[in-house]
Amino acid sequence: MTVDLRAERQDLIERIRASTELSDERILNAFANVPRHEFLSEAQRSIAYEDRAVPLDEGQTVSQPSMIAIMLSELECDVGHRALEVGTGSGYAAALLGQLVAQVYGIELRPALAARARVSLERAGATNVHVVTGDGTRGLPEHAPYDRILVSAAPARIPDALIEQLAVGGRIAIPVGNEHSQTLVVGHKTSPTDVEWRRTFPCIFVPLVGG
Ligand code: SAH
Repeated sequence: MTVDLRAERQDLIERIRASTELSDERILNAFANVPRHEFLSEAQRSIAYEDRAVPLDEGQTVSQPSMIAIMLSELECDVGHRALEVGTGSGYAAALLGQLVAQVYGIELRPALAARARVSLERAGATNVHVVTGDGTRGLPEHAPYDRILVSAAPARIPDALIEQLAVGGRIAIPVGNEHSQTLVVGHKTSPTDVEWRRTFPCIFVPLVGG
């Protein structure tokens, strides 16, 4: 049986549109262009285009599409930007981000996940996404500064290194809190020493460990 994955992706986009009220066609198109099934294990592929988080190895999860869509919307990405994703996991969110900006650096703590993400990103044709293994609480200084930072795991407090490595004019979207209660926080760096913070809405991510 052949499954029409383009049709499934289109259904996913309609669900994202309905649940988030997003109308940014660049973001919705990114979901049409990135094959989520390539980032999941064989056993999970049948649910690849449902709007929910999917278990990944080592107790981690592939983020929920509508949540990624909201974070991407808050980031206000531009084609010229260089971006960092902390907590790259499967590589799916990094691939979506790669559709909206020039370059993405992804940092993932768990080496086996980072290795798998590289393979999935290559299969998905995401040539502008580079995955590094390491502790993202320190950011990724070798490629800083970043115009945009997407954090896909929740720390108890925002790591200073990420604020330092954000370019002036840059934006960061980061879930902050503990395993029971988290808020998506959005920062806009308005000068080398000032960030305007906005707390948006509740969310659930795996913890950002390390640091
Ligand atoms: N965006 C990913 C989400 C993966 S879940 C996706 O769509 O698949 C969050 C990831 O953050 C996990 O893979 C976990 O290993 C990673 N992580 C947790 N703490 C980290 C840290 N300090 N540095 C880098 N990655 C971290």
